[in-house]
Amino acid sequence: MNPITQLKTKLPAPLQRLGDLAYNYWWSWTADHLSLFSTIDPTIWQACRHNPVALLESVSYERLSQIAENPEYLKRLKTLARQFDSYMTERDTWASRVAPQLSHEKPVAYFCVEFGLHESLPIYAGGLGVLAGDHLKSASDLGVPMVGVGLLYRQGYFRQRLNRSGWQEDYYDDNDFEHMPLELVRDEFGQPVTIKVRIRQRTVRIQVWKVRVGRVELYLLDADRSDNDPIDRRLTGHLYGGNRETRIAQKLLLGVGGVCMLEALEIEPSIYHLNEGHAAFALLEVARYETERTGENFFEVEPRLRKQVIYTSHTPVPTGFQTFSADMMDSFFADYWPKLGLSREEFLSLGARRLGDPWEPFSMEVLALRLSRAANGVSRRHGEVSREMWHILYPECETAEQVPISHITNGVHARTWTAPLLNDLYGEYLGQSWAREMGNTEIWTRINDIPDEDLWQRHCILKERLIAHTRARVRQARLGRGEAADDIAAVERLLDPDTLTIGFARRFSPYKRGGLLFRDLHRAIRILSNRRRPIQLIFAGKAHPADDEGKRIIQRLMEWCRHPSLRDRIAFIEDYDIYTAKLMVHGVDVWLSTPRRSLEASGTSGQKVCLNGGINCGVLDGWWAEAYQEGPNGRGLNGWAIRKEADTREQEIQDQSDAETLYELLEEQMAPLFYQRDRHGLPRGWITLMKASIRMGAPCFNTDRMVAEYVTRLYFPEIAIPNEPVLASA
Ligand SMILES: *Cc1c(COP(=O)(O)O)cnc(C)c1O
Repeated sequence: MNPITQLKTKLPAPLQRLGDLAYNYWWSWTADHLSLFSTIDPTIWQACRHNPVALLESVSYERLSQIAENPEYLKRLKTLARQFDSYMTERDTWASRVAPQLSHEKPVAYFCVEFGLHESLPIYAGGLGVLAGDHLKSASDLGVPMVGVGLLYRQGYFRQRLNRSGWQEDYYDDNDFEHMPLELVRDEFGQPVTIKVRIRQRTVRIQVWKVRVGRVELYLLDADRSDNDPIDRRLTGHLYGGNRETRIAQKLLLGVGGVCMLEALEIEPSIYHLNEGHAAFALLEVARYETERTGENFFEVEPRLRKQVIYTSHTPVPTGFQTFSADMMDSFFADYWPKLGLSREEFLSLGARRLGDPWEPFSMEVLALRLSRAANGVSRRHGEVSREMWHILYPECETAEQVPISHITNGVHARTWTAPLLNDLYGEYLGQSWAREMGNTEIWTRINDIPDEDLWQRHCILKERLIAHTRARVRQARLGRGEAADDIAAVERLLDPDTLTIGFARRFSPYKRGGLLFRDLHRAIRILSNRRRPIQLIFAGKAHPADDEGKRIIQRLMEWCRHPSLRDRIAFIEDYDIYTAKLMVHGVDVWLSTPRRSLEASGTSGQKVCLNGGINCGVLDGWWAEAYQEGPNGRGLNGWAIRKEADTREQEIQDQSDAETLYELLEEQMAPLFYQRDRHGLPRGWITLMKASIRMGAPCFNTDRMVAEYVTRLYFPEIAIPNEPVLASA
């Protein structure tokens, strides 16, 4: 029996539709998402990480019967189910008008190694995955026929716990697929559809799970079957884990396995979109099918193949992670290149930076660039950096500007990342359909009509929620470490809702400079503990398990969290995930980003902050270099820029200069503006900046705009850029 039907057998008749909603992540971006499931049992809801299937399966039948007799709940459920049905069956979508050549029979296949849709499906590590999740959601809302292809990790990405000395310890939880919103794909006889991929001279059997993301389907490959060799079962164990050999095997599974899977499901993509290079082996497999079908060799089918391929790069430096030695390639592909009609040298040079040099490590990025019709970076700046970085692949281009790599700036899915409290407020002043016409700048000028006190009051509520969440998590962490009773009680004094609150949540990679603010500890203490104008900080983020330098940054942060002058003003939330990210971007006053210049491809968390009236302060890199605007007096109109003051390549000097700039901004601009109140206690100047942040950020840095750009500029460049506004479905 299909798991939705099975779940429904456990639900009282009036609650049947909950079964459909639980199995489609559409619920997670409706305005009603917060209470729909939590009302049923808030404790279980929290314990199961907001997984609706697990909730409905574990809650008692008595409780469900109670809910089934609550007329108000039933009314809401009915309305929501009606909205869901009309969303799912809508025909007249943006994409159906603009790109009728796309159909469900010939969708876009979107490959990514991680997908971050929701905290209840922990198969993502960070920005790349969340972007992929947001891409699918907007594709669904715009009616773009798309299928996602990824891996279903039994353990996912590591979870983070800090020990008594502040050192990051990694641990893993097993995902229980049977109790998640996943459906095992079965054939007409009810047997799991399996595909076979040759890896390391063994045949690995892979099954496929389906996740419903509105109208889009995400297919996830799973090697953890009892009929596989124990080593092969672990291929879909950890995301970004294991050694180089595991990583190449995973990539083979994702790319080659992904294409086999599409074939098995009889899905014939019109476009293959590779989000990052991890899945680039997919292109070899598509070529292999074609050579087999037509009897041509690789070079004959290649021109046709590349017409269908789009590649998006997300890194501004060539990554060692994505390259493999010739030996390694031999051991995985020796029986593969003959099938393409290629010699070993020809095959290896597909991934070599210099054509015809098979001794260079084989790079997934090079393979993807060589075989794609169009490639792009993810911000204007990143486009420039990528053209320079990959100029070597295009000897026919005299200058880097001619290199055929464009850019489409990343965005975020507004309906996922806007706090429901603000969603209601925007509905009132911008019109109920604001979230469906994100690009309509006229709508966003109406932000100015929102009464200051209304916006401020809601912001304060969101900030209080963030502080409550932070305290709860810090308390839990201290209890877990067996800290002294005094330290646990001290959590009640941690953070203050009236204090200017800065958020910083990032992967703790040294280039993100998570500790920049504390370069001059005395100065930092003076600024944070200023009596009249204090400032407090909330940190979150993981360091990659192999990144000791990143772990040391976290450890130093934890020392500062215990410093007698700072202990009430700094908090670190462990085990950053989409849920904590939501609370943080909803509730902070300021969002800080301090990457070393040109190393941040785009960044998206600051865009989420804009949607919620938070204000960005950051290095002018990635998306912020495009969004930041300055007035004639040199002050930011929608936030703050950490400008380059020192003209040096010396990292130490640059860091010192940036820290200096940051201190000045904090002392001379942020704190005075935040604490300047009128007689109603409102920070008018600050609220003006909040409104500018929303007005200038929201219409541009969202995934409706981004996906529409992919469709009209990269997937189908022959489409004349339509006059048609980009409209998402409700
Ligand atoms: C948005 C998001 C990110 C990406 O943040 P950056 O700005 O790119 O650093 C990472 N992790 C989570 C959980 C997110 O929600």
